[in-house]
Amino acid sequence: MNRRDFFKYTTSLLFSITACGIDRKSIEFKDGLNTPQKITIPKKVIIVGGGLSGLTAGIHLIERGFEVEIFEKSSVCGGKLSSFKERHLGCDISLEHGFHVWWGQYYNFIDMMKRLNIKRHLKEIHSIEIKVKGCANETIGFSPKVYPFFLLFPLLFSRNISFREIMKSGTIGLLILGYDKKRYDKWFDKISFNDLMKEYDTPENIQKVFFEPFLQAGFFAEPHEISAASFLELFHFYLSGNIRDFKCYHIGGNPQEKVIEPTVKYFLDRGGRVNFNSEIENLIIDNYKVKGIQQKSNDIHVYRDGEVIHILQTAPLERSIFKRSMPVQEIPEDNYIKVELPQNQTIFIGFFNGEIIALSGECTHAGCLLNWDYKEGRFICPCHGGQFSRDGYPLKGPPLIALSRFKIGENVKEPSYEHAVSQQVVHSADYFIIATDIPGVQGIANNIMMSVDEWQKDEFHKILNLKTSSCIVLRIWFNKSLEPDRLPVGFTSGFKFIIVYFILSQLNDDVKECSRKTDTQCIEFIIIKTPDMINLSDAKLLELVTPEIVEIFPEIKDTPMIDFSIMRHDNYTFFNKGAVNLRPHVQSSIFINLFYSGDWVYLDAPVFFMEKAVMTAKIAVNHILLKEGIAPNPIYLPNVRGILS
Ligand SMILES: Cc1cc2nc3c(=O)[nH]c(=O)nc-3n(C[C@H](O)[C@H](O)[C@H](O)COP(=O)(O)OP(=O)(O)OC[C@H]3O[C@@H](n4cnc5c(N)ncnc54)[C@H](O)[C@@H]3O)c2cc1C
Repeated sequence: MNRRDFFKYTTSLLFSITACGIDRKSIEFKDGLNTPQKITIPKKVIIVGGGLSGLTAGIHLIERGFEVEIFEKSSVCGGKLSSFKERHLGCDISLEHGFHVWWGQYYNFIDMMKRLNIKRHLKEIHSIEIKVKGCANETIGFSPKVYPFFLLFPLLFSRNISFREIMKSGTIGLLILGYDKKRYDKWFDKISFNDLMKEYDTPENIQKVFFEPFLQAGFFAEPHEISAASFLELFHFYLSGNIRDFKCYHIGGNPQEKVIEPTVKYFLDRGGRVNFNSEIENLIIDNYKVKGIQQKSNDIHVYRDGEVIHILQTAPLERSIFKRSMPVQEIPEDNYIKVELPQNQTIFIGFFNGEIIALSGECTHAGCLLNWDYKEGRFICPCHGGQFSRDGYPLKGPPLIALSRFKIGENVKEPSYEHAVSQQVVHSADYFIIATDIPGVQGIANNIMMSVDEWQKDEFHKILNLKTSSCIVLRIWFNKSLEPDRLPVGFTSGFKFIIVYFILSQLNDDVKECSRKTDTQCIEFIIIKTPDMINLSDAKLLELVTPEIVEIFPEIKDTPMIDFSIMRHDNYTFFNKGAVNLRPHVQSSIFINLFYSGDWVYLDAPVFFMEKAVMTAKIAVNHILLKEGIAPNPIYLPNVRGILS
């Protein structure tokens, strides 16, 4: 045994001994002062974004007597946690942006579920299948619940990992368990997961079988892109929680009905307000304070002057006016032409049964730009699969509201530059929480750059450098039974495209019922490597991923697919190298009454995804409560007690 090996073996031993001494328990941070619970002088808070984070902030503020107004860009609340109906095999099925799972360590989320009386919807997932390309399948179970055996058992019983390899990974194990957020963010954010594995000489099998499946499933990205600091944080969060809570849950595939709607109802019943289809594009500032938010108001006018159609768009922020004109003869019969406008907007102009129709090209679900499919006679959303009829009515997927239809005016007075400026819609409040996704906050950051001083730009520069990752969610239906021992949730590694699968016919209540009636199976796959694939046609995409589907589910080889559904996402938070140090803190470093919340915001604690969306919102609310001299809410964290704390 050489010196290097000796060091590794002794650290592995140390890891086992120290880990045995750890007792884990969630802790509550409570305000010890006898401060009031409710505000006495009314104060108003505006929340931008009605996803999980915005709604969490909303309910915690409304309970304390604040006047709260949410501005949501789309026609529904819930953001990435919203679900919607699609029709497949004659059944109305509720689908999500991607099947969601909750973990036992989501202390703040689960506490909120208890408060809203919806915790009963959580159903436990007992084991997860790990499918590594070219290796035997593995199962990760959530027992036995004795520290540290729950971590070691999957490794010890692995069909692919040797005891020697386990012993060789002691140092990386220690690094995860002895997590230190401040130091790790400084040391490891600039390097990738792959670099870290090389640096610590981690056996390839440990990477492939143990780390990569969870890493890809969490971050929807490839190991060489992911920040080593985020990897260590992720594994610490999931593996080092309270042993009691080392569990995984789902809610049957309809978070809209089971989580979002009860939360919105709770908020509205207590006097909260939600403004839908209200995109916020800028902040109105006054020195160190935000005075108001500015709602996007790209006023579009379409009018006919004899044989010419004019399209005018006033953009208040740019203080500009745009005009495009076209002869009526250029508009094709029974078809639409797409007119691109500045401000990333499009409209479709068509001629049907002798009538000119002008429709907004913006999907009413999340604002993606639609494509017109002439053959199908439908508008199709490339992001989330929404479809609209020829005259703009929602047919399929998430959108519930019809496309805006422009009245074709006759001899409309051309709006002037002054008219554009006077169109600005501003809403004011005492406090502001930006709870959008990354593209949403970047739109605001981009505009505010024009009005802040040079020294104030750093926070917004960093926000503008945050990145999103993209993924494709594919569901396929076929009428062949799966092997009886298949587990409903599977994480993969070593495949080019597929990183996760969920057997929806075992997990999603609507799909389960439909499968029973139609004797079919439905599997959902999450696909990455998408920057090159996001614009591929459905047929091409299916052709590319089918060999991998068959490799993961050999039992469906040569079984014809009888239906499918595809969604393309490009606004998932990216945990790339260097991103940790770009994330803004919950309290803005410039404006005293501005806060950020969402899974892209920096936190001093190792917390992720839905739990982070909830926790950052609670922290933003606590800042406001403390500023108003009101007792803050308890925040729950997985706590490390013992030798490694
Ligand atoms: C396919 C998929 C699967 C996932 N699976 C899991 C999982 O299993 N477990 C887990 O913990 N997490 C999972 N996540 C992540 C989880 O969904 C998110 O962390 C969480 O929903 C983020 O909530 P949020 O409120 O911060 O952001 P969002 O849900 O993105 O909400 C932001 C809201 O702001 C609105 N908005 C944007 N811009 C503006 C603007 N300018 N003005 C007004 N409104 C605006 C948007 O329309 C949206 O409603 C998954 C995500 C995806 C995409």
